Amino acid sequence: MSSRKRVAIVSVIQETNTFAASTSTFEDFVSQGLWLGEEISALGMGLNIEISGSIAEIELLGHEAVPIVRAWAMSGGILAANDFDKLLAITVQQLDSSGHIDGMILHLHGALVSEIDVQADAGIVEYFREQFGANFPIVVTHDLHANLSKRLVHAATAVIGFRTYPHIDQAETGIRAAQILNKCFREIAEISTVLKKLRVVIPAEAQATSEHPMAEIRALADSFVRDDILDISLFPVQPWLDVPELGFGITVTHRGSILKAERAASLILQKFWELLPDFQLEMFSMDNAVTTALINHGSWPIILVQSSDSPTSGSTGDDGNLVQYLTNYPQPMKAITTLVDGAAVKRSKAHGIGEEISLTIGFSLDRRWGEPFKITGIIKAYGDSPVTLEGPVMTGQIISMGSWVRIAIVNGCQILITERPAPTFDPSAYHHVGVSLKDQQIVHVRSALLFKSGYEGFYEKYFVLDLAGPSTANLKALHFQNIKHPTIPFDEGTFAFEELIDE
Ligand SMILES: [Zn+2]
Repeated sequence: MSSRKRVAIVSVIQETNTFAASTSTFEDFVSQGLWLGEEISALGMGLNIEISGSIAEIELLGHEAVPIVRAWAMSGGILAANDFDKLLAITVQQLDSSGHIDGMILHLHGALVSEIDVQADAGIVEYFREQFGANFPIVVTHDLHANLSKRLVHAATAVIGFRTYPHIDQAETGIRAAQILNKCFREIAEISTVLKKLRVVIPAEAQATSEHPMAEIRALADSFVRDDILDISLFPVQPWLDVPELGFGITVTHRGSILKAERAASLILQKFWELLPDFQLEMFSMDNAVTTALINHGSWPIILVQSSDSPTSGSTGDDGNLVQYLTNYPQPMKAITTLVDGAAVKRSKAHGIGEEISLTIGFSLDRRWGEPFKITGIIKAYGDSPVTLEGPVMTGQIISMGSWVRIAIVNGCQILITERPAPTFDPSAYHHVGVSLKDQQIVHVRSALLFKSGYEGFYEKYFVLDLAGPSTANLKALHFQNIKHPTIPFDEGTFAFEELIDE
């Protein structure tokens, strides 16, 4: 038998927020570019995404990479059942026409919920396990915000995840997956993954992996990775997921050393438990944050973080609370803010650059958090070309924000209104529409934490705003109905570590 193997590479990625206002659809993937077969290498190589790493490394290891599908959508609400089926059908069809396959790398977010399966990623892995049989190697990669499921770990040969948040190691994760798959081909000892979970959820804003306390937990995990322990991945989970098996997960991928792997996972989970009081997040009122930003004497702007309505966390990006506050602010300022409102963009396009326009904007998709409001300003620019990300997260990936318009208000605040969410976690969104960030006092981002790597060196400080919304950091304000009890922070009282272990 040839030692050169043919490896199918599949990437189907969306993060679900079950509190989001609307259902996600197949169109959400198509609008961001759904690539098949040869297109994947042509469009994806060189980008900091998982497939570029796994394709390159599979070839480097002497195998043949067979790219199948790359489907990526911005985070959103629960995926329509038919549209999930459509994605899987396209994948299967492409795979069927790709010839014999010896193994598979599956890049999945790990927090995808469909209308009929709260663990839709697991459904994908189970499908291929059934098709290819028990001994076929399947290595799965996940986002660090995945909600790991026993079903998925059971169906996969091995499961690993990003090590960083902000996620700057996406291609690197693809490389690690290829190396583990290569070991599955070459070694006699059985490779598998152990999963341990604790029913504890922490705000995404407090999960930065280069900072205390996540950095200490990562360092402990790294200290176990040697000999038969091939990989340890931490999954602090994105918290806006009202599903039964919710919690902080750890995977340990090992070579025939299940006891050693389980022991390492338990020790790391205990370390997380010890450090839990340190996962603190300070939040600010709009008043406090804006006043402070306007007296900032540094040379870079202050970032106002509206993580409660972050499209990379599944929100719609149409919450106008901060936009309204800034555009009505009585003092002059230099600020750039953003909002999704497709109808407002369309109306603006009937006017020329330099013309004055009055619009009613805001809360056009998710009406639960406020009322539409009026603005009057001058149209500065519009367009419909997509943004190429320039920061270290998904570097080079092209994101469509649909049509957009930039309007200047008399107090100096500018608004970028878009049809689809602007990727404000990356400075390219504002650069793309002609805004110089250095000239601003205030920059509005709709992102929990991803923005920190993109804007590194370009801001003085950031303030997380205490606002309501489907991706708020104030988790207890959301109505969780399906989680198991007790789960921290939703259940009051003092709990022992053992009570929170999800067996
Ligand atoms: Zn993530």
